[in-house]
Amino acid sequence: MSETRELVAIEACGSYAPEHVAAAVAASLAHLGGIAAFVKPGETVLLKVNLLTKAEPARAVTTHPEVVRAVVRLLKDAGAGPIAIGDSPGGRTSAQAARAIFEASGMAAVARDEDVEVVLLDDDVVRVPAPGGVLYQHFNLGRAAVDVDVLIDMPRLKTHGFMMMTGAVKNLFGCIPGLEKAQFHVKVPDRDDFGDMLVDLLLACRPALTIMDAVIGMEGAGPAGGTPRHIGAVLASSDAVGLDVVAAAITGFDPMEVYTNAAAHRRGLGPKTADEVPTVGTPWRSLVLADFAHPATDLARKLPPGLAKWARARVVSRPWLEDPSRCNGCRTCERDCPVHAIKMADGKPVYDYNACIRCYCCQELCPNRAVGLKRPWFVRALVVRGGSERA
Ligand code: SF4
Ligand code: SF4
Repeated sequence: MSETRELVAIEACGSYAPEHVAAAVAASLAHLGGIAAFVKPGETVLLKVNLLTKAEPARAVTTHPEVVRAVVRLLKDAGAGPIAIGDSPGGRTSAQAARAIFEASGMAAVARDEDVEVVLLDDDVVRVPAPGGVLYQHFNLGRAAVDVDVLIDMPRLKTHGFMMMTGAVKNLFGCIPGLEKAQFHVKVPDRDDFGDMLVDLLLACRPALTIMDAVIGMEGAGPAGGTPRHIGAVLASSDAVGLDVVAAAITGFDPMEVYTNAAAHRRGLGPKTADEVPTVGTPWRSLVLADFAHPATDLARKLPPGLAKWARARVVSRPWLEDPSRCNGCRTCERDCPVHAIKMADGKPVYDYNACIRCYCCQELCPNRAVGLKRPWFVRALVVRGGSERA
């Protein structure tokens, strides 16, 4: 990665109709020299998709299978192979649970139709250096994401309660196997630091190309419990950070509100604004959704760093059982909380807020969207009086 910004290609895409998606993916890559500029005949490829949890494509939690299918077909036409589709979902994932995620997301069907493999990045782990990493100089990654000639990052554009937005950089978190992901929330509880860790991870993974599914994204309580929202685009670039900055601007963020973008900018690996990113294709300004619903802003962020960490523990949103009627007592939240801050009582989760590190894994992984995020009452009162915050 250099100070010279790489081109971000944007193509409008009105729906997930296979012909629309295939045309948009092909057109976006054509701006970058075509798929052949990234993959040579005979090279192995992993498509790192987002398979966060068990969800059908219409919920906009996972990368849409038609986008994946379009990329697989281009790769096959270019003579690449073998091709695999992979991720490590959030929380604990047994082989049976992984199969259920692959089926529900439509990824298993694409793999069967196109004769490629879907792999779980949990089983076989390899230690990989992150040259120039600030917080981490090594990561344990799923071998299938490492022992390939070409890694293609395929995020879906969504809000994220902890990082504000999940795109190209955040999607790489799924290269880290299983519960090791949860341990990063314990080791790196601060949001700015977590953004730095994810940029270090980018330096370890070094995807050759990112192809983002932003046809229908997720607003509000992402990355799993939010609302699908039509954005209408496919984005592609070899510059994961530049692409995320443009994606943030399209979804109405100041790109520096997104922790991964800010971390990359702090160390000279990313721009501050979308205007600094060279783009081609559909003008990004024509896609901007100024009313895209965002997660609650981290109010402590504007304070001096030392004070911000102290204040953050007091003013940031807390997870809570927002809709008890949706909770079926499955215990996923209790099981996957990295600091064991949840205990079940009468079949419902009860939170220990002194132990909770506000990582929001319980909100992210609740299969029934029963968990919400709530600001402390005095912050809500201030926000209402100030009137400047998006909820
Ligand atoms: S809140 Fe969600 S994850 Fe937790 S027990 Fe209820 S349904 Fe399961
Ligand atoms: S209770 Fe939820 S937000 Fe708090 S530490 Fe556990 S998983 Fe993270």
